Amino acid sequence: MAIKTIDSEKCQVCPTRQTTGCVVYDICPMDVYRLDEEGKPYIAYVRDCQSCFLCVRDCPQQAVYVTALVDFPILPY
Ligand code: SF4
Ligand code: SF4
Repeated sequence: MAIKTIDSEKCQVCPTRQTTGCVVYDICPMDVYRLDEEGKPYIAYVRDCQSCFLCVRDCPQQAVYVTALVDFPILPY
């Protein structure tokens, strides 16, 4: 659970990466990401993700996919 993937196709066309940098990298409070030589983020420390969804909220390309940290069971009525 937690951060799943970064869609490399969507990330290719990020309008902010060339100007202000990757906002996903900047916003993550848990230091999950690192940047490659092109300035694109990759998931370096997946176990640190706390599923706060800040990166999902802020990525302008909706390129980041995160799931809830814990699966809650569906209880019967
Ligand atoms: S993850 Fe999102 S904000 Fe970061 S470079 Fe890729 S598209 Fe842009
Ligand atoms: S969900 Fe939160 S902790 Fe996880 S990678 Fe995104 S910003 Fe970082």
